[in-house]
Amino acid sequence: MQWTRLIGQGTWMLENDPEQRAVEALRLGVELGMTLIDTAEMYGHGRAEEIVGRAIAGRREGLFIVSKVLPSNASYDGTRRACERSLRRLGIDCLDLYLLHWPGSHPIAETVRGLESLVRDGMTERIGVSNFDVEELRAARRASRNVPLACNQVLYHLGDRGIERRLIPYCRENGVTVMGYSPFGHRDFPKPSSQGGRVLADVAARHGKTPRQVVLNFLTRDGVFAIPKSGDPTHVRENAGGEGWRLPDEDIAAVDRAFPAPDRDVPLGVI
Ligand code: NAP
Repeated sequence: MQWTRLIGQGTWMLENDPEQRAVEALRLGVELGMTLIDTAEMYGHGRAEEIVGRAIAGRREGLFIVSKVLPSNASYDGTRRACERSLRRLGIDCLDLYLLHWPGSHPIAETVRGLESLVRDGMTERIGVSNFDVEELRAARRASRNVPLACNQVLYHLGDRGIERRLIPYCRENGVTVMGYSPFGHRDFPKPSSQGGRVLADVAARHGKTPRQVVLNFLTRDGVFAIPKSGDPTHVRENAGGEGWRLPDEDIAAVDRAFPAPDRDVPLGVI
């Protein structure tokens, strides 16, 4: 399912950036085509959603807004109340996608029923999950009755490509969009002096791009979404340039060799 461009904007810890600059960064990202904004009730205890709300006030059209319910709130009624609070903070009537943030202690069937009721009541267009490995996703899909699970948001960066082995193929076969989070490894972007950093710099130089643009292009090469977070307009501009061009096969192979996917199945990585 192609909702928007594949590169969107994350908002975890955006509340720690100067607020006006964060608002301007989000708006610039939207202008540059990063119209998908990912947030969650957890981020800054709702502060990130409020900042997104400021950034999108009066400009809802054409945006794709994603938020998430905390597992501890994800009973049937709790999911509904959490969604209402998120909508209020965001200043919108309806989300484009609402996710369970990670598997929790409430039975998944109950959470899925709660999520489905939100679609029925026009509070979100789509529902999904986050941090679900194949078996958990299979169980969640079995629990869904009326509304398919549209998305699984999971960790995906050059240092953790485990989802390429089983999860991406499973999602692809079952029509579940994969949204990769922490595309720069959160705070662990390869150092320029490292071997991998030098490979990224070489590839980037060949195409007049930056190493981060190469990374975003690589991660989205097969239709997986990437949602880099930045509260800095200069960085936002750079991130938007990760899409709209294509790494040739030999450069994809070079990045692949420098940052190999695991050669056996590994548990889903989480941050
Ligand atoms: P990330 O996007 O991999 O990296 C963010 C860090 O990179 C920030 O320190 C940011 O600083 C910096 N950065 C971004 N663009 C840059 C650029 N062009 N040049 C230099 N530095 C740059 O990490 P993340 O925030 O962990 O992940 C992205 C989003 O995924 C989150 O914000 C959140 O929306 C989502 N997420 C979801 C889950 C989940 O459980 N579902 C977990 C983690 C994250 P500046 O702000 O200063 O640019």
